[in-house]
Amino acid sequence: MTTPQAPTSDELAALRERYHLERERRVRPDGAGQYRPTEAEFGYYAADPYVGDVAGREPLHDTVDVAVVGGGFGGILAGARMRQQGLERVRIVEIGGDFGGTWYWNRYPGIHCDVESHVYLPLLDETGYVPEWKYAPGEEIRRHAVRIAQKFDLYPDALFSTGVTSLTWDDPSEKWIVATDRGDAFRATYVVTATGTLSQPKLPGIPGIEDFKGHTFHTSRWDYGYTGGTADGGLTGLSEKRVGVVGTGATGIQVIPMLAEDAGHVYVFQRTPSTVDVRANRRTTAEDVGADHDGWARERRDNYLRIVSGEPAEEDLVADRWTMSAGLLEKLLPSFRRQGDRETFEAAYEAADAAKMNELRTRVEQTVADPDTAERLKPWYRYACKRPTFSDKYYPAFNRANVTLVDTADTHGIERVTEHGVVVGGTTYELDCLVFATGFSVGTSGILSGKLPVHGREGTQLLHAWARQGPRTLHGFTSNGFPNLIQMGSVQNASSVNYTHILDEQAVHAAALVAGAEAEGALVEPSREAEDDWITLLSKDAPDHEWFHAECTPGYYNGEGRGRPNGPRAYPYGAFAFHEFLKRWREESLGEILRARTPQQP
Ligand code: NDP
Repeated sequence: MTTPQAPTSDELAALRERYHLERERRVRPDGAGQYRPTEAEFGYYAADPYVGDVAGREPLHDTVDVAVVGGGFGGILAGARMRQQGLERVRIVEIGGDFGGTWYWNRYPGIHCDVESHVYLPLLDETGYVPEWKYAPGEEIRRHAVRIAQKFDLYPDALFSTGVTSLTWDDPSEKWIVATDRGDAFRATYVVTATGTLSQPKLPGIPGIEDFKGHTFHTSRWDYGYTGGTADGGLTGLSEKRVGVVGTGATGIQVIPMLAEDAGHVYVFQRTPSTVDVRANRRTTAEDVGADHDGWARERRDNYLRIVSGEPAEEDLVADRWTMSAGLLEKLLPSFRRQGDRETFEAAYEAADAAKMNELRTRVEQTVADPDTAERLKPWYRYACKRPTFSDKYYPAFNRANVTLVDTADTHGIERVTEHGVVVGGTTYELDCLVFATGFSVGTSGILSGKLPVHGREGTQLLHAWARQGPRTLHGFTSNGFPNLIQMGSVQNASSVNYTHILDEQAVHAAALVAGAEAEGALVEPSREAEDDWITLLSKDAPDHEWFHAECTPGYYNGEGRGRPNGPRAYPYGAFAFHEFLKRWREESLGEILRARTPQQP
């Protein structure tokens, strides 16, 4: 880890003190309870704005080879990789009106992915597509999801505007029964769950929020009917309007400059400032990214993963602020290969962290003209406490006369919403429109949410079993008692900044398990002993991140200040090493997970 301007020990002590004070200023007694999921009373915040009336259809009672729960990149990649293994009936069930997941729902002005498009967009080698921008706009990414689904013929069997309500293993037929909110109860030999992690929009439980009489929506359900324009701007409907934005996370950072361009006045209600590093988006050519031979995208993606997983790499092909700051993310990523002994590592880490945060605070000072506003935009915490963000347009937006920063840190967020505006520190800000860029509930989709009951052998409910004994899996994918069920996600698996890469490796693995079972006429089901061995391996070298997050400013990485317990959460040696481990396991040991089918009765 390099330290451009290594801080002195006095400077480090002063920073620690300041970070502690800023944390204490923000911690709330209600923790994660301060939020309300956009369900029940707030259902209108979560409705799908991109489909009109959903056409009725007859419930399905047929049988498919593979059912995939979720049509985001995880589900699409599972479908594509299953197709490559020769599976014919692959049915993806998706609650949105089309494929795309995150990129289906989030279409707000300014939306881009801040991971380089040439490593983020999956299956570029397979589709022949070469993105033209270093960081792709959301619509290009959504279209790429559709491109993959078309190429791998995933549309004919897909079910959209449909939510899976339960998965039940039927022992006599050795199939899963997939029930949905459209009355379907079809069978599938295999089920893959790919339900994502950040899909349920959340709202702060601000008193009076339901009283607001102006227009209001969540960024993941942008109302272009009201604002006019597109994700590229031109929000002409706002030209005379006073618009409030709550939230300055990765979404707020992208939305606010777009609103600033078009709205009459923008009030930015900030609680904790993000780190906002250099973006430097630019057009790229195929030559720039080395797209001149088969496998170029895989190589680039592997190089990126090496770097952000803490592996040595000869060169940094992407060379952006994610890769340059990768060492500072060790405490954020569940799996990062740490170099050297702990004491030396932590000392170098803290010094590099302080240097980086100083650089980012200086960036604010150098860009924002008003010193008071600049001071309030400075982030005071360690780099990995909050999701880093990147923009060259965010800070300049605060130099405009029609943008006002309202700091809500001392009141732990907005105090109250009234019929006509928002109250902070006793001042009422009258608004025509209130936009919530307040993020998503973590872990509230799919099996972990408890809203998708999974009944395995003898009716055992997966989540109930896990509640008693903690998650039990082999490699994060499969569990004893739940044959032919393959989970995608980050539980006891690996994770990374470039999550589509993780999902693709998971999809490859899922498809290999299914192909192995098909070839042997077997079921996929690990033994209890295999699960025990996996948990032992994860526990043995589980990284100690708890103390770090306990000192962080509140956010969803640390349960809003409550903590982030250590434990056998993820493969401890990094995502890159995990993929190599899985590949070897598939070549040498896949047979161990296959179990004989029970002969069917005539
Ligand atoms: P976040 O959860 O990151 O941010 C929510 C924001 O709302 C925070 O600034 C939070 O403040 C603020 N907030 C919440 N409650 C209140 C309140 N009562 N008063 C004032 N402010 C409040 O959500 P995002 O949608 O920004 O991002 C979610 C995730 O989506 C990101 O972490 C990232 O993983 C992903 N994303 C990725 C992008 C990409 O380019 N790859 C782009 C956009 C999002 P506080 O910090 O104080 O809690």
